[in-house]
Amino acid sequence: MESELSKDKWKKKLTKEQYRVLRKKGTEPAFTGKFWNHHEKGVYKCAGCGTPLFSSEEKFDSGTGWPSFDRSMDDASVKEKPDTSHGMIRTEVLCGKCGGHLGHVFDDGPKSTGCRYCINSISLDFEPKM
Ligand code: FE
Repeated sequence: MESELSKDKWKKKLTKEQYRVLRKKGTEPAFTGKFWNHHEKGVYKCAGCGTPLFSSEEKFDSGTGWPSFDRSMDDASVKEKPDTSHGMIRTEVLCGKCGGHLGHVFDDGPKSTGCRYCINSISLDFEPKM
């Protein structure tokens, strides 16, 4: 399983910044990633293992500088986990397959789900819809 890749193998597979975010739970600076202002139709996949995670249909402009989604592709595509780091109580979002850190989910979403998945662009790859 991908999550069982060794530290060295992840380091080889990912860029330095991808490693910092995906494997070390880092955060990219707001408004710097490639997807916060990206509006093509398609599927956002895990940059670590390629698992489809979010559809462009569920993406919205949150104004935060990070790509934001109402929901994940399905229940198994992401895992959610309590996170009390940095003096905050948040819910971390991880890739359901490789366990890579994606971002956090908040309960102030503007649409029917009430969720706002706030995701680092660098944790994602994009596959345009043909
Ligand atoms: Fe993954």
